[in-house]
Amino acid sequence: MGSTDRQQLLSTLPSVDELLKSPEGTAWLNGFQRSIVVQAVRDVIARIRDEILSSTASGFTRDSLISDIDRQIRKKASCSLRRVINATGIVLHTNLGRSVLSGRMLQNVVDVSSGFSNLEYDLDAGKRGKRHVHTKNLIRDITGAEDAFIVNNNAAAVLLCLNTLARNRQVIVSRGELVEIGGSFRVPDVMAASGAVLREVGTTNKTHLHDYLDAVTDQTALLLKVHQSNYRITGFTEEVPVTELVDAGRRLDLPVMYDLGSGCLIDLRAYGIHSEPSVREIVKAGVDLVTFSGDKLLGGPQGGIIVGKKRYIEQLQKNPLARALRVDKMTIAAFESVFMSYRDEKGAVDEIPVLRMLFQTPARIRSRAVKLANRLKDRLQEEQIEVIRDTSKAGGGSLPEIEFPTYAVSIRPARITVNELERRLRAGSPPVIARISGDALLLDARTVSNGELGLLAAAISSALAPA
Ligand SMILES: *Cc1c(COP(=O)(O)O)cnc(C)c1O
Repeated sequence: MGSTDRQQLLSTLPSVDELLKSPEGTAWLNGFQRSIVVQAVRDVIARIRDEILSSTASGFTRDSLISDIDRQIRKKASCSLRRVINATGIVLHTNLGRSVLSGRMLQNVVDVSSGFSNLEYDLDAGKRGKRHVHTKNLIRDITGAEDAFIVNNNAAAVLLCLNTLARNRQVIVSRGELVEIGGSFRVPDVMAASGAVLREVGTTNKTHLHDYLDAVTDQTALLLKVHQSNYRITGFTEEVPVTELVDAGRRLDLPVMYDLGSGCLIDLRAYGIHSEPSVREIVKAGVDLVTFSGDKLLGGPQGGIIVGKKRYIEQLQKNPLARALRVDKMTIAAFESVFMSYRDEKGAVDEIPVLRMLFQTPARIRSRAVKLANRLKDRLQEEQIEVIRDTSKAGGGSLPEIEFPTYAVSIRPARITVNELERRLRAGSPPVIARISGDALLLDARTVSNGELGLLAAAISSALAPA
């Protein structure tokens, strides 16, 4: 395009004022905040002007201009962080917000946060109190620990423990437990950031008690065990049972810490899972400090829970880092409510969405999948739609070896590719996150609630509708 053509094209670009006074402009101003409308109009005009000047655009039409502005306004007026439908079947999906909170937890957050609260006020004494008292006794009752403390997440819990107990000193860890969790939590890196010195012992597949004992010097501050979380080493393997590590710690007068990762508060053997000890069992084994996440198997808000011996927890609370890692009242309110649910184990599985989604019967999942498939078949004639058996993973670095039997709705689109369908669903409102398997899109009913079935069916039919 020559420079006169460019000037010619630029002169046909309407001004911000003209657009605001147009019938579309009036409608936008009636429906949205003025600042959003003006900014969107300016942004789109500026972008088109730049494209014309750099010859990356050969022109524009009034319709394309209006629809660009319209899209921009809607984008600016809606939140970036929003609800999505998780049809992946992965209950603890870290990218999709990990644990879903129950109505009971959320109601407590609303009650506590919409007014003032006794967050750090002792109502009996009429003076300053501590924010941790609200959850401490509940956690003690549920886990059997002497004391408890909550920080921002489990990474923060590990950091605080290492910094408090082992700064400038050595921490002995098995080479089989130098875990990396998605999103950049790595045991050696957290160790370095805490100021503790990593002393790795044993090999990837086998670590013996004498490996720990041989490494102990007067520089040793802590024996650390880390839950493998998202991987398993199988075959010719050996690890030191936590009870033996505790015995060794006692003899050597060294504290023993266990980063349990997920941290399960119920006995999973009732659900056929024998590989995951409960926090109560680990505490009972005599571990001095146990850390775990609030939003993995526990099913609460993001948080890092530290339970263990009172004298160590008190040391943690005095560390200046504790103030930097402290949790908000909304988190405490959600935790207090989720711990109340745990006072009754059966009730917890019904009430806590993470546990309910993981341990619902395959028959229930199938019935939701069938409902969804029937709704889709009513609306869509050309697509091949069927309910299939599949398995889902827990996710969130929890129970990696367990395959949970599930049911999914499989859709083979007739007019577009399965990748295009997946993309359209992600771009929809609400966005739907699904899985592709071969030429089919799979919607796992495990993580879709009854209440979402209508929205999901509508989202799929609109994504498949002819443009
Ligand atoms: C998940 C996990 C962490 C990190 O926990 P966040 O709550 O995500 O910070 C740390 N250690 C282990 C072993 C884990 O599984």
